[in-house]
Amino acid sequence: MLLTDPQRRTLDRLIGTAERPVFAADLRQRLVDRIEGAVRELELREPLWLGKEALNQLARCEGRFAARLEGEDPPFEHSVHTAAGVLVHKAIEVDVGSRDGLEPHAIAVTAAERLAEREERFDEYWRGRTAPEQDELLMEVVRKVTLFQGSFPPLRELRREMAPVTELPVKAQLLGGDLTLSGKIDLVLGVPDRLEPSRATRLAVDLKTGGAWPEYAEDMRFYALLMTLRFGVPPYRVASLFLDSGEWQAEEVAEETLFHTADRVVAAARSAGALLGGREATLTPGSWCGWCPRVLVCPSAEPRSA
Ligand code: SF4
Repeated sequence: MLLTDPQRRTLDRLIGTAERPVFAADLRQRLVDRIEGAVRELELREPLWLGKEALNQLARCEGRFAARLEGEDPPFEHSVHTAAGVLVHKAIEVDVGSRDGLEPHAIAVTAAERLAEREERFDEYWRGRTAPEQDELLMEVVRKVTLFQGSFPPLRELRREMAPVTELPVKAQLLGGDLTLSGKIDLVLGVPDRLEPSRATRLAVDLKTGGAWPEYAEDMRFYALLMTLRFGVPPYRVASLFLDSGEWQAEEVAEETLFHTADRVVAAARSAGALLGGREATLTPGSWCGWCPRVLVCPSAEPRSA
């Protein structure tokens, strides 16, 4: 297959061709034991759901995490930014999954139609835009799809070798459903090794349309944990890929990474148990206060955010 230099670079250096690592067959069970053993005694008021965002909120400020637990976040409404985000992800799904090769604008239009059919909130947002506004949004998607196609080898043509999956929802239920970990991974590549099932053969990628943030590395480690709990074997590598530049931040997955993330989950579950049991949250103000629903009433809120 003929590839451009950036596509070849992604194939050789991000996806890689080196022999994949083999993990211990009991790794998943040891992770389950670590989490369940540590949080079994907690008396949670109701089943707890944790995702990468909740863990990041706790890492920034326990008060922000408490606000989430108490359901204080305003109901979600699309902005131009979030609508473009979901549309770009749907468009990449269309690009990778379509039977026929489509050009980027047709991909964007198909994605908008499918998303409007399936997601009520997007449909409402989409129908509320004027035709020029819709066109602008479609052009933003065309730009990102073009960047995606310029960064990756043509995944549609490599389905047999790479089994690409987009927007993979992964959920792990622990403690009989009292604790659920969940997330949706933008792109997973790799075919399981049927002869050696504990060999890590998958790559998990988050596609980013903006700049880098420090928590992206933890987000990807969380996805590695989720995949281990769900599939029994971790991805060999996780990465955030920045569509604007085609560059990425990648990390090899190791047992230590997975246990580190399991400990973050345990810390979040313990914090949730204590907060819901009436303990006061420890407040750590910062620039994130601007996105906190408690910003106007919190005694520690970062002044400029309020
Ligand atoms: S306003 Fe800031 S300090 Fe207060 S709870 Fe929210 S994030 Fe924490």
